[in-house]
Amino acid sequence: MKPEENTPEENKPGEIVSLLLKKGLLTEQNAAYAMRVKSKLSSDKTLIDTLKDLKYINGDQIKEVLRTNHLSLRIGDLLVELGYMSRAKLLTALNIQETQQGKRLGKVIVENQFMTESAFMDALSVQLGFPFIDLSIEDVSPKVIENIPIKWCMANNFLPIKQVKGKTLIAFADPFSKTDIQGAKKLFGNNMIIGIAAPNMIEKKLERLCSGNLRPKTIVDENTAIGIVETILGNAIDQGASDIHIEPFEERLQVRYRIDGILVPFKMFPINAATMVAARIKILCKANIAERRRHQDGRMTYEHKGNSLDLRVSIFITVFGEKIVLRILNRINQILELDHMGMQPKMLARFRKDVLNAPSGVMIITGPTGSGKTTTLYSCVSEIASPQISIITAEDPVEYVVEGISQCSIDPKINLTFEETLRHIVRQDPDVIVIGEIRDNYSANVAVHAALTGHKVMTSFHTEDSISGLIRLMNMDIEAFLISSTVVCILAQRLLRKVCPHCPEVYTPSSSDLKLLGYGPDDMKKYTLLKGRGCPVCNHTGYKGRVAVYELLVFNEFIKEAILECRSSYELRKIGLETAGLVTLMEDAVSKVSQGITTLEETFRCIPQLLPPRPIHEINRLLGVS
Ligand SMILES: [Zn+2]
Repeated sequence: MKPEENTPEENKPGEIVSLLLKKGLLTEQNAAYAMRVKSKLSSDKTLIDTLKDLKYINGDQIKEVLRTNHLSLRIGDLLVELGYMSRAKLLTALNIQETQQGKRLGKVIVENQFMTESAFMDALSVQLGFPFIDLSIEDVSPKVIENIPIKWCMANNFLPIKQVKGKTLIAFADPFSKTDIQGAKKLFGNNMIIGIAAPNMIEKKLERLCSGNLRPKTIVDENTAIGIVETILGNAIDQGASDIHIEPFEERLQVRYRIDGILVPFKMFPINAATMVAARIKILCKANIAERRRHQDGRMTYEHKGNSLDLRVSIFITVFGEKIVLRILNRINQILELDHMGMQPKMLARFRKDVLNAPSGVMIITGPTGSGKTTTLYSCVSEIASPQISIITAEDPVEYVVEGISQCSIDPKINLTFEETLRHIVRQDPDVIVIGEIRDNYSANVAVHAALTGHKVMTSFHTEDSISGLIRLMNMDIEAFLISSTVVCILAQRLLRKVCPHCPEVYTPSSSDLKLLGYGPDDMKKYTLLKGRGCPVCNHTGYKGRVAVYELLVFNEFIKEAILECRSSYELRKIGLETAGLVTLMEDAVSKVSQGITTLEETFRCIPQLLPPRPIHEINRLLGVS
């Protein structure tokens, strides 16, 4: 902003200089000298700038004196003194104000284009030190306005925003209006921080608050960042997405959802929305809003249709700006009963009898990221939860809240580490300990030792299949006899997309697909295979929803012996298949293909092929599929 020329009759100290003199920040001699210097200058420098040039005062001192004394100063004089507008323009503005009774000077100045609104806001916030509140990205905290008469706010042109360190941050249209400040003081006393926001935005928000109930209703209006973010989050939750990707490109902001494990496009927004959207999300997840050059992360709670959801936010800097990924942690109705998880009849019966009903021992669920381990873990926990037993968890983070059990979210930022939590967990007299994930020797040892002392331990692991889970455990510095005497089972799993129920079609597998399975041309003939044609319901993918496929390795005497003898993975797998009734991931998937639940394509996409599957009728017999 360029200072404007001042007329010569102003060669007397203004209000700010008088205040500086009064506060002893400036001497009379220095002020007089600066005035003489200024009168000799041909440029249009203000007295304040001259004082700064002479190093008699600095910008911070000015801000400080204004911040602490602003209630006694007049805004027009300040703008002139700081060089934002000329005395002549101020006089015109004051004349106009007189004819328009009750109108604030700031409004007159902006309306008559003596200054732009942004320059005016800038003057107040940057120069005078009032925090500027951008209401297009900042929301009103419901708590703050809960018991506030909105009509009173309207009458006094202010809007309470949120609590900041025990004080209420309040947006004023004119922070120099004594009546407005007094009006707010009646409600908040001295416990407030005076901020400034665009007057029309304050008005709009107040009207919105007033028209509906007293709680703020976020209007889904795609012209504001709040509206865009609301649209993105609300739709994602409605569509059952697990992740939201917001990516800036050269000319557009792309939003995609991960639904059933696959990214699907949601919407494009103009690229100029990117910064606003990022700022809004940063406010929600308490990240640093000013930081735009470094990766950041955060967490937020989001209310949607009466449900409270937790989201984990990651902000990553790309060449085109900030890419934001939000993970939706506790999705609505995500905890399924074990009966509806897709475990086939005989496997489910065995899992209940040998694993869930066992009084102690370690149960491990294994699979890569996104294979649904956590969902299965929670289903198991909610199946065994009862008032007679105590269940306690250490998770990173808690993804679903289950009623009646004690869950702890690991938070390394505050030094609430896995180690620390596990040390304390055993002293809590639990019957069942849930360890979100075994990721090092320490947690593996805790699991095994807790089982040894009679606890039931449920945990997950990050390996391809059940046998490789076992091998990894054997390589973790745990005595073989400890593993063989404590681990009850390893359950490997994957999620396969289900054929869309709205557009299924019968299909015949190609001979190359059959060859991949080691099957002949007739081996699948008796079964009705289905595939989705693609329709609007399934986003034209042919798939809707997902089903889990499982590989359950229950530790019998033969397996235990093989562990003690440190057998190879090939031998362990063979023993499992021959003696422990093991059905591989591939076999469970092929069985589900034969039932028209999923497709061969999906099977090959997701399942590692280690051994060729046995004939379908044999698999279905082992699984109890009729
Ligand atoms: Zn469909």
